[in-house]
Amino acid sequence: KIRLDNVVKTFDTFRAVHGVSLDIESGELVALLGPSGSGKTTILRMVAGLEYSDGGTIYFGEKNATNIPVRDRGVGFVFQHYALFPHMTIGENIAFGMKVSKVRRSPDAIAKRVRDLLRLVKLEGLEDRFPAQISGGQRQRVALARALAVDPKVLLLDEPFGALDANVRRDLRRWLREIHAELGITTLFVTHDQEEALDLADRVVILNEGRIVQQGTPNEVCRAPNSAFVMRFLGDTN
Ligand code: ATP
Repeated sequence: KIRLDNVVKTFDTFRAVHGVSLDIESGELVALLGPSGSGKTTILRMVAGLEYSDGGTIYFGEKNATNIPVRDRGVGFVFQHYALFPHMTIGENIAFGMKVSKVRRSPDAIAKRVRDLLRLVKLEGLEDRFPAQISGGQRQRVALARALAVDPKVLLLDEPFGALDANVRRDLRRWLREIHAELGITTLFVTHDQEEALDLADRVVILNEGRIVQQGTPNEVCRAPNSAFVMRFLGDTN
């Protein structure tokens, strides 16, 4: 379980996150939804440990995350333009994290894990291709396989399907739901696309100008938007 307690982030004089409190239960898939600049990425980066808060506390379980080094947090990431290493094959990309991990694995164990992950992300047979030789949607699936390779406890996804066309995005959504159901991994997902958030998440957290304005199941927020902002934002299907 991850808990944000009154978390604040200021860049110079600009306050990007204004006291956000949020619980993410184990195994839950939570979407952070909001317009550009609402603080979604900043929150995700603080959970990852790539950015420090300047107020409030983030807990991983009972522990204050400040005391947990980034590589010990057990988080995997996928970003929108998560560049795969272009000079490495798909298989080598997926294996990379395992090779640099503190957890020692034999070459055979790594090869087997790469095969299992390729099956999971439905890219069997593409192991020896290079990133430039597969589609954008396939590349995002490789990025997810790479994030999953080190058995993260938490998956952080920042607009992972943002750059892709609508059909591919729909396919990837369905597929992410299946993977989430299969692995039950705690997932925090950033998007500005309300349709994507409502379709994917167990719970949607709506942000505006660095504050949570509403949260609930997709059903709850759609049935009872609590402000003109939420109503307008959810209604805006572009
Ligand atoms: P987007 O969907 O456009 O990525 P977002 O909701 O993820 O938006 P953030 O990236 O978290 O928003 O940014 C929140 C605010 O903080 C923005 O106004 C942004 O300009 C500002 N900001 C983010 N990172 C920095 C930084 N390193 N230095 C200064 N300001 C920053």
